[in-house]
Amino acid sequence: MKVLKGTVLTEGVALGGACLYREDILAAAPKRDISKDETAAERKRLQAAIEATKRDLAETFAKAARALSPTEASIFKVHSMILEDPSFIEPMERGISEGLVNAESSIVSSLADYEKQFRKLPNEYFKERIQDLHDIASRMMRHLGLTHAGFRCRCQRRDPAVLVADLLTASVFSGLSDKPLAGIIAEAGSKISHGAILAKTLGVPAMTEVRGILGQVGCGTRILIDASKGEVILDPDPETLASRAPGRRLAAGTAKARDRSSIATKDGTRIRLSANAGTIADVAHARERGIKDIGLLRTEAFFLGRAQEPSFDEQVDAYRKVMAATDGAVTFRLLDIGGDKLISYLQFPKEENPNLGLKGMRVYEEYPELIATQFRALLTAGLGRPLRIMVPMVSTLDEFHRAKARIAAALKRLDRVPSCLSVGCMVEVPSAVYVVGDLAEEADFLSVGTNDLIQYVMGADRMNAKLAEFHDPLQPAVLKVLRDISAGAAPAGKELSVCGEIASDPSVARVLVGLGYRHLSVNPHQADKLEAALAESTVGEIEDLARGLLRSKTLSAARKLLAEPARA
Ligand code: PEP
Ligand code: MG
Repeated sequence: MKVLKGTVLTEGVALGGACLYREDILAAAPKRDISKDETAAERKRLQAAIEATKRDLAETFAKAARALSPTEASIFKVHSMILEDPSFIEPMERGISEGLVNAESSIVSSLADYEKQFRKLPNEYFKERIQDLHDIASRMMRHLGLTHAGFRCRCQRRDPAVLVADLLTASVFSGLSDKPLAGIIAEAGSKISHGAILAKTLGVPAMTEVRGILGQVGCGTRILIDASKGEVILDPDPETLASRAPGRRLAAGTAKARDRSSIATKDGTRIRLSANAGTIADVAHARERGIKDIGLLRTEAFFLGRAQEPSFDEQVDAYRKVMAATDGAVTFRLLDIGGDKLISYLQFPKEENPNLGLKGMRVYEEYPELIATQFRALLTAGLGRPLRIMVPMVSTLDEFHRAKARIAAALKRLDRVPSCLSVGCMVEVPSAVYVVGDLAEEADFLSVGTNDLIQYVMGADRMNAKLAEFHDPLQPAVLKVLRDISAGAAPAGKELSVCGEIASDPSVARVLVGLGYRHLSVNPHQADKLEAALAESTVGEIEDLARGLLRSKTLSAARKLLAEPARA
């Protein structure tokens, strides 16, 4: 029995067999010794993967040259040339014929040798080329049949599994919704990363920053997650199992479906509740928890973890299914990729700071057809009923105008249109805060994306778990920004919600109400706790608390104030 510590994402206790997931395709490659008789077949597989990778690189080059410029796209030409280089290919062939290992294993070890030689070179240029070799080898692995789902161990578990991932990224969760899951553990990934948010939407005990776990478990290892104590126990003994009572884990579908479309403070002020969702299963969870409206439907979930872009028809089908899964309104957030959400079939130009680069609606300028197809699919799916569309990462009013113009152009291409179309704007970039009044006048509704907003206000990468102190919503600067948004948007009288993760934290949700917010879009699994937290005090008391917090000059002072018994 071994106990590891980590950071809790979702509380609760769960028991299951490990199902391993590695983001790094090379680390996940199946390694196998082969017999002399198999060498010819393995070399043939290797050759076929090389040829397919060359074709794939030629296509990528052509696409990138059209979208960028031939100069910027030339990196893919260089990759093709590396694949022609005997000093890159021959060691792989030798690995098979003489080392008697399969093609995947031979690629991984040849790459490791190559890296060793490159690292010895004094020239920085060559060190940077290591990443290129890694990219080429990853493409080859895909052509050897290692699809994304194959990164998971092939345990085919029927009983609920504990997913153990190296890094908490969004792609970990693609295609997971239909699998029985007892819990989630990641070696790394911050509490406000997209992966962490998706983990929380599943409602099972989840922890991140459990360092070194992948080196200590194999497929099927029994794991007890005690996320109430922040502990992960490998191979728990019977006494530990009895004392930690794994039966207490949160099970989806057990909550009573009482209507929670709005919840009340002690004096009866109604706070509207809608749910955040990424999949149809999430929409069902919201309904199970009595929440009708989906305040944030992250449509990128339909684009991630696939080999190619979903077609128009596939999108229409997916959006219709989402609408059919709820009686309430659905706010479809337009494709929001970039930063930590990358799509394998789009060759983004390499950026030094992806979070400050092509992200959210900025991507639409680069891929106008991609977004035009999404608009048409949404408008078609929404035919004859009200449709709500929300634009991510808006930094300026000009940008919001451009998004609206794109939607108007898509509308023109249709014969029939939704009965009512509302276009909302996310407030998640500091520049949008300064012009929030103007945005509120132009938008039908606003929603505050605090996950990104906090990262930009505090200058602290949301993926970096070491910066947790700066991600705290009680940071004095963050509280003031949240107050300014609520005050700045008020004159326009438009619907204003908070859809970032902080709205799902019961004590922080109270603070948001104190700052003037009356609509929260939350993780539906938190509905009970939010309802209880808001019912504890009157709006007047909560506003007093918010005023006190706004006077706090340091994070510790704010945290202390929030923890006072009368406040908690
Ligand atoms: C946010 O940034 O707060 C948000 C809701 O969007 P995402 O987490 O998907 O970036
Ligand atoms: Mg965001």
